[in-house]
Amino acid sequence: KKLGIALVGLGGYAGGQLAPALLKAEHCYLAGIVTGTPSKEKEWMDKYSIPKENVYNYENFDNIAKNDAIDVVYVVLPNSMHAEFCIRAAKAGKHVITEKPMAVSVAECDAIINACKENGVKLGVGYRMQTDPYTNEIKRLVAEKPMGEVQYISSDAGFVSGNNPDQWRLNKKLAGGGALMDMGVYAIQSSIYGAGANPVSISAQEFKTRPDYFKEVDESITAQMKFSNDVVGNMFTSYNANANRLFVSFRRGWAELNPCHSYGPLAGRTSKGEEIKFPFERYYQQTTQMDSFAKHVLTGSTNFAPGEMGKRDIIIVEAIYKSIEEGGKTIPLDLGDMGIVK
Ligand code: NAD
Repeated sequence: KKLGIALVGLGGYAGGQLAPALLKAEHCYLAGIVTGTPSKEKEWMDKYSIPKENVYNYENFDNIAKNDAIDVVYVVLPNSMHAEFCIRAAKAGKHVITEKPMAVSVAECDAIINACKENGVKLGVGYRMQTDPYTNEIKRLVAEKPMGEVQYISSDAGFVSGNNPDQWRLNKKLAGGGALMDMGVYAIQSSIYGAGANPVSISAQEFKTRPDYFKEVDESITAQMKFSNDVVGNMFTSYNANANRLFVSFRRGWAELNPCHSYGPLAGRTSKGEEIKFPFERYYQQTTQMDSFAKHVLTGSTNFAPGEMGKRDIIIVEAIYKSIEEGGKTIPLDLGDMGIVK
């Protein structure tokens, strides 16, 4: 069986990446759409052969409960709308994938996790890097230690925001935050899989060079972390600098991904040259990601981006904002192994 996925929110990412990726998927397909823009309905129905009965808007969305063709609801809306639609999807008895950031507060992450538990549905975050082969190779180097233990990591994630002051990404209410909410979660993610452990403390600084443009949200943030295995590191995220790199320093060498969170294929190298190389032929990241979640639903295989992982990252986001508010104070974190998938 192939699972039927309904995409909620047919913007740039749903249209440009997820829908095309679903055409290549083995265990799921694009079965339905949920949109607030009536003009998109016919365009998508024609393009992806979606029957009228699988098309919903934000008002009648809850009727999806009665539609057996839809197994999974994938929420691809502005960040502050994730929680509402994930919870409505769970109550409709559908498995849920939410785009990153999972939600705009830890309280909202908890509400999503609880709604999924109460309704007996599976929950995943749209963390496409967690099933990327380059990421997995970093995880292998960290776990198997061919170059020894990790000592230090550095991770950067940012892009230069164009001149569009009206976009939701610059609106605190819709985005929940700026660069940190959007790109910062990638830096948090790669810091953690690069270190192979969760941070136990974090301290952060914010920099604003275009205050007239970034009126409501953060532009650039740096943060320093200590991890539970004594790795130390730093991360940088920005809406005003292109940055896309993970550096992992081992006792006897180093590995680097650059780019480290693009749609792929990524590029990687190590200090060992020909000895430790990154594979990999062309692959389709979002296809792999959604197939992996579908397999999890169908067979109980590993969920590589569970809700707990999304929530952990928002705990870290909140700690970063708190540190900035308190003038860079070091904030302790008590995460244990939360969100670490073995
Ligand atoms: P987008 O602006 O291109 O699309 C947003 C969609 O939401 C549009 O279809 C819009 O009509 C709809 N919408 C509904 N209510 C809205 C409102 N009040 N204001 C603005 N739009 C509204 O954004 P996007 O780039 O597709 O991002 C959507 C989500 O996907 C975000 O959470 C983002 O972080 C995530 N995303 C993830 C990746 C990834 O690589 N995993 C990449 C891009 C975006």
